[in-house]
Amino acid sequence: MHFGCVSKIAKAAGRMAELGADLLYPKVCPVCMQIAAADDNNGICGNCKSKLKYISNPRCLKCGKQISSDEIQYCYDCARSKHIYRQGVGVWGYTKEISESIYAFKYHNQRCFAPVYADEIAACCGNIIKSWDAQALIPVPLHADRMKKRGYNQAALIAGELGEKLCIAVDEELLIRNRNTKPQKELDDKERFKNVENAFIIERNVVKYKKVILVDDIYTTGTTVDACAKALMQKGVREVYFVSLCIGRGF
Ligand SMILES: [Zn+2]
Ligand SMILES: [Zn+2]
Repeated sequence: MHFGCVSKIAKAAGRMAELGADLLYPKVCPVCMQIAAADDNNGICGNCKSKLKYISNPRCLKCGKQISSDEIQYCYDCARSKHIYRQGVGVWGYTKEISESIYAFKYHNQRCFAPVYADEIAACCGNIIKSWDAQALIPVPLHADRMKKRGYNQAALIAGELGEKLCIAVDEELLIRNRNTKPQKELDDKERFKNVENAFIIERNVVKYKKVILVDDIYTTGTTVDACAKALMQKGVREVYFVSLCIGRGF
């Protein structure tokens, strides 16, 4: 399934677990929740676009966070800690506006934001993502209990839409969260690490991918991505990348 253009498979994989939800573009702007003007093309309205913090160069070569000067390579956090993943990118830096949008997407059933988010990722980070030449997008999994409660995994919705746009297969089955961890936003750095340490497993003996891209909504310190990357690499994946909607502290 990971050869060539696999948009149909990606589409199916991204949607199968979502109870057949057909994700049409929202009728409102996913940031201000106002009815979109015709020229905003079903996406984020012009007014909100100007308020969001789109990440541009120079970026941290590790986590993709915006950095202040191109004379440095890494952000403050990445210069001081080692990551297991290879590299990552995100669309936005942290702002109240994007945080509220993602909150509604995650906790208030605004699944319809997924195609807009995926469009933004493809437009802002599509070239970097393609350059990684990975065989699969892997959404950061929810624990089964939380999945049951919420009814959908927001990361899987983004991965499904993104896979379709960039012609990359989506594998929702590979990585499993075997502990119901606390939300990382409630914890400090040390507790974040403990919280997700060994929380992810892979039940298959052989993992056929050499390079994969984890997909999540928010990247803060990288502990979740690293915990996933560790599980994947223990099963033979050589390089793990990530893409997230938003990067930064404040969550
Ligand atoms: Zn708006
Ligand atoms: Zn960084």
